[in-house]
Amino acid sequence: MALHVPTLLLLLVMGFGLLTVQLAVARRGQLHQGELQLVGCGAASFFAGFIAFGLQAWTTHWLTSLLGNLLVVSGIGCFAAAVYRFTLNRDLPQAYRWLLCLGALPVVVVLALSLSWRVAVLSLTAAVMLLPAVVVALRHGWRAEQSFRLTGLLLLTALMASLARAGHALLWPEAHGAQLSEASTVPALWLLLTCTSLMGAGFGLVLACFERLASQMCELASVDGLTGCLNHNTTVSLLAHALERGRRDGQPVGFVMLDLDHFKNVNDRHGHAVGDRVLRAFASAVRERLRGSDVLGRLGGEEFGLVLPATSAGGARHLAEQIRQAVESLETPGDAGQLLRVTVSAGVAVAEPSRGDSAEALMQLADKALYQAKQKGRNRVVVADDWMRNSSLQAVLA
Ligand code: GH3
Ligand code: MG
Ligand code: MG
Repeated sequence: MALHVPTLLLLLVMGFGLLTVQLAVARRGQLHQGELQLVGCGAASFFAGFIAFGLQAWTTHWLTSLLGNLLVVSGIGCFAAAVYRFTLNRDLPQAYRWLLCLGALPVVVVLALSLSWRVAVLSLTAAVMLLPAVVVALRHGWRAEQSFRLTGLLLLTALMASLARAGHALLWPEAHGAQLSEASTVPALWLLLTCTSLMGAGFGLVLACFERLASQMCELASVDGLTGCLNHNTTVSLLAHALERGRRDGQPVGFVMLDLDHFKNVNDRHGHAVGDRVLRAFASAVRERLRGSDVLGRLGGEEFGLVLPATSAGGARHLAEQIRQAVESLETPGDAGQLLRVTVSAGVAVAEPSRGDSAEALMQLADKALYQAKQKGRNRVVVADDWMRNSSLQAVLA
């Protein structure tokens, strides 16, 4: 069975054309990532390049060959640039740009050679141009989005197939014929593998961009943008989950409600931007003191909640006291070079596994303890006692 090269070229034109159109349509919507634009440019270059190769049957041979190969070089350059942007968030290094420019040189030089020599030199050139992108994609991209791994592997496949096509052209020049359309099955297969791998790498890059976008949106939906803490809803869900788990494992769960004292004054005196800076410094000071299983959430404004799995009342009080002291000695630079100090009040509530407290009840209890801490003069820790528990329970039941 012989592969019909003009049909292969038509399929490649259609495949890259489809990728180009889809990305152009996507760009008219919300997708404006630089990587996607580069993949779109690369796909358009390959699309036009394969049209030029397909036209070889009808029009001046050297012109279409020159144009087709230059467009393929530009397509590889765009894909390489997309890989760098996606994995390292940077443009192509200067040396790589030079390599791509040099890659255009053989395209011109080989015009006078026989087809097999042209195939050998140009396939080798394509492999060399792909090499840095493959190294970057496999080294740095392996830890990135899962779907990007396939992109790396497909770029490697394109590189290997290109090398195989070059080797084949040197060893069996007669199999390549005098024109591209006369290639026998094996060289046609190498061509097909190189180009479909590049096309697959393009689709893989698109998928990886979407995967990244999806995880960024997930993070935005659960994390507070200012402090990097979990947001209110996520904190409550995690507290409910910790309580469930605590009941199953027979472990107490601590919850600490933290509220910065007189924080309004900080904003009034130093401005909202400095207030934001204090909130960020506070959050990172608290995070430094937590265990891996503890969770800090921002409940709203200058109010934060700490979920402490497997923590007794004594342990929760101790941690809250450490945090109170750390915040007391925290100094945040103001805009005029002065150092700002703030204090925090904390209300601690602990759910014993036998009691079956809900997240809502535990938070109300911690809020009551926090209220007392504020009443008693602020900058202190209060642990909820039985009296508070009973009055809080009555409030929930009412
Ligand atoms: P208390 O000791 O009783 O808690 O007094 P307070 O001033 O801290 O409490 P109050 O509820 O009166 O004021 C909270 C202030 O927190 C008001 C608001 O300007 C500020 N705040 C809330 N969210 C933010 C924020 O995201 N950034 C900044 N800079 N300030 C915020
Ligand atoms: Mg406050
Ligand atoms: Mg408050």
